[in-house]
Amino acid sequence: MTIANFDGIDAPKRLQTPEEKNLAEKGGFLQVEDVDLRELCELVGTPAYVYSSTAIVDAYRSFEDAFGRNRIAICFAVKANSNLSILSLLRSLGSGMDIVSGGELARALSAGVPGERIVFSGVGKTAAEIRQALDARIHQFNVESAAELQLIAALAAERKVRAPVSLRVNPDVDALTHAKISTGRKGDKFGIAMEDVARLYADAAADARLDPVGLAVHIGSQITELSPYQSAYSRLRGLVGELRAAGLPIRRLDLGGGLGISYGGNTSAPSLAAYADIVCRTVGDLGLELTIEPGRRIVGEAGVLVTEVLTVKHGEDADIVIIDAGMNDLARPALYGAVHPVSLLVGRPGLKRPCRIFGPVCESADFFGCYADLPPLMQGDRLVLHAAGAYGASMASNYNTRPLAPEVLVKGDSYAVVRRRQSIADMLVLEKDAGWFAASGRRKGDALSGIVSR
Ligand SMILES: *Cc1c(COP(=O)(O)O)cnc(C)c1O
Repeated sequence: MTIANFDGIDAPKRLQTPEEKNLAEKGGFLQVEDVDLRELCELVGTPAYVYSSTAIVDAYRSFEDAFGRNRIAICFAVKANSNLSILSLLRSLGSGMDIVSGGELARALSAGVPGERIVFSGVGKTAAEIRQALDARIHQFNVESAAELQLIAALAAERKVRAPVSLRVNPDVDALTHAKISTGRKGDKFGIAMEDVARLYADAAADARLDPVGLAVHIGSQITELSPYQSAYSRLRGLVGELRAAGLPIRRLDLGGGLGISYGGNTSAPSLAAYADIVCRTVGDLGLELTIEPGRRIVGEAGVLVTEVLTVKHGEDADIVIIDAGMNDLARPALYGAVHPVSLLVGRPGLKRPCRIFGPVCESADFFGCYADLPPLMQGDRLVLHAAGAYGASMASNYNTRPLAPEVLVKGDSYAVVRRRQSIADMLVLEKDAGWFAASGRRKGDALSGIVSR
């Protein structure tokens, strides 16, 4: 039997190869590492996320390799994929974590990441979250405003600790990516304006409750052109010069994340070596500790979403295909117009037929894209949506009261269900009937008992 040893890396590109086409024609099937996705589907059902641990390790190592002897700290952006097993895997490789909420802090800590390897980013931190992070003795807060700096100082005093703070700069650089994931332009809600940085930094340095450690930037996500990094880091360099000229202490720069991956089509992932080169040339000689915060680039291509075709409506030019995964499972297409490469789990020879793939959610935005290179699809076909390891499961919701899909981590020929499928009872557990509109002779318990029995 022909086997596609699809390991999650470069999935879209591999699907273009004649070998892969040939495989589809011969009726081969897809694997993640050595695990047969057909068998996995029988066990966990669809939709389901499946991740290759080897692909994650390789992606992490490729960052280390790109920087070589020039040491850099890697803090994985937890929001890209916050599954505890993936955080543990990355922690075991030496990764720190970039978090944006108290919930993500709890995840990082419970995955065994020490506080001193955790950076707290995020544009709206609550007092409770700041206290939680102070108690965890985190590496640094990336501060987004003067008000936040004051709040952190007050809470640090309350805790009798000195808070390590870095100022997140808005460098006014266009990351040349989708508007909804661009974060470094003037007018974006993120960061402190260039002209305010030196003054705020001096305020922090004069405040005994604060330990100003450096500057941070993060200009956006799914960035495929490297020139915005060159501009942003050059501006950061200029600011470092300004702070030093004013006699202010600085020891760290946090360079953010945002490196793009390939989702098929024409865009290709930027070279990590070229990125590392920009880092070294712009800020490498300043004698500062450097941190990067990649998320997507570490987990994106390591994951697939497996789904089943529910219905096909035959159209004149293209079929309308409804699958059992929706925008609640994978929001990127609805949010950003993103298109994920799709292939049949079990290849089928024959003609191609254009189709438009939709999810089952009651929104026209629940649309995955137009596909030209799939055979005519049928009810019960299983499809694999590639490059779904980042901002997939972590963005999922219960919209339409659809349960969160399971997540499976694969290593060689082993797999582990690292999040089980949510049950209907799980979804209803937080809610309670006000009791004001009880139907006669029926109480809440009776009405739900048939559905939520575990
Ligand atoms: C989202 C985010 C990242 C990670 O972005 P990717 O595009 O996944 O690499 C890094 N840093 C901050 C502050 C973020 O908000």
